[in-house]
Amino acid sequence: MIVIFKKDAPQEAVEALCQQFEAQGLKIHNSMGQHTHLVGLIGDTSTVDVDLVLANAAVEEVKRVSEPYKKANRKFHPEDTVVHVGNAAFGAGHFSVMAGPCSVESEQQIEAVAKSVQKSGAALLRGGAFKPRTSPYAFQGLRADGLVLLRHARSVTGLPIVTEIMNPEHIPLFEDVDLIQVGARNMQNFELLKELGKLKTPILLKRGLANTLEEFLMSAEYIMAGGNENVILCERGIRTFEPSMRNTLDISAVPMLKQKTHLPVVVDPSHAAGIAWMVRPLAMAAIAAGADGLMIEVHNDPPHAKSDGAQSLTPEQFDRLMADIRHTAEFFGRTIHAS
Ligand code: PEP
Ligand code: MN
Repeated sequence: MIVIFKKDAPQEAVEALCQQFEAQGLKIHNSMGQHTHLVGLIGDTSTVDVDLVLANAAVEEVKRVSEPYKKANRKFHPEDTVVHVGNAAFGAGHFSVMAGPCSVESEQQIEAVAKSVQKSGAALLRGGAFKPRTSPYAFQGLRADGLVLLRHARSVTGLPIVTEIMNPEHIPLFEDVDLIQVGARNMQNFELLKELGKLKTPILLKRGLANTLEEFLMSAEYIMAGGNENVILCERGIRTFEPSMRNTLDISAVPMLKQKTHLPVVVDPSHAAGIAWMVRPLAMAAIAAGADGLMIEVHNDPPHAKSDGAQSLTPEQFDRLMADIRHTAEFFGRTIHAS
């Protein structure tokens, strides 16, 4: 981090601030120009509050030269992290597919979808019990009953389950969930992230609708800073000016994230476009771009789904897609995990 002092900054003010930095364990590198006094801060600057430094009357400008995230940063952890969930694995060439309905709707529905996606080669069963809906009048999910049905589907198939949490108070209900999902709308629910950081359960963190990659990685950092380093990042489309799709899949985010972090990166092509026929091309693009896995919505009766029917594949469509996913993933050197 570089601190640029004002031309007429009093020497005592400069020294006082430098002493403050030294007390934080940072080393100071002074650089005196003809008109400017720069100070380079050497060490872990992730805890330096830039706004606070800027509030000092002697300071003209502050520039970060290193990223504000540390645990998620590939610079400090060059090897890929592999996150294991049951027999599934994500990262370092390990590739897994999560599939299932947007919402858990009934025992019959979740059991039927679980059996069929397992047969097709999915490694995890997805299904929303607590649903974040734009309208308060839309189906809100079966909530705790939905979790009971997911456990039932797991006991029938052996598939590990992934499901979304929205409220830190619900953590006890998620005790035996294999992979806890933080949805796009909660990516910056910092109190939730802090509580999830105290758990051992792996976390699937979805990118917010309008968040930068740095904000995304800072949210992962919240979970990791609490001690839970099993984080999988999920690109699920961002909001742009294009209205013909629900979101725009930011495919560039995949290689960029993988360059910035050692954490596994997966793609959700279902929410990205909101259109079932677009799931296949986007899934293929995700694998080619370097994704470590996919999350795909599958419903046994999409026209009657209680949420996201338009983007849901039928079990038959998913079965055909899995064959393409297998070929493509193998072509790009991944090892596919099934249940
Ligand atoms: C979901 O996976 O069901 C979901 C709501 O996704 P997102 O948070 O990405 O919108
Ligand atoms: Mn959905």
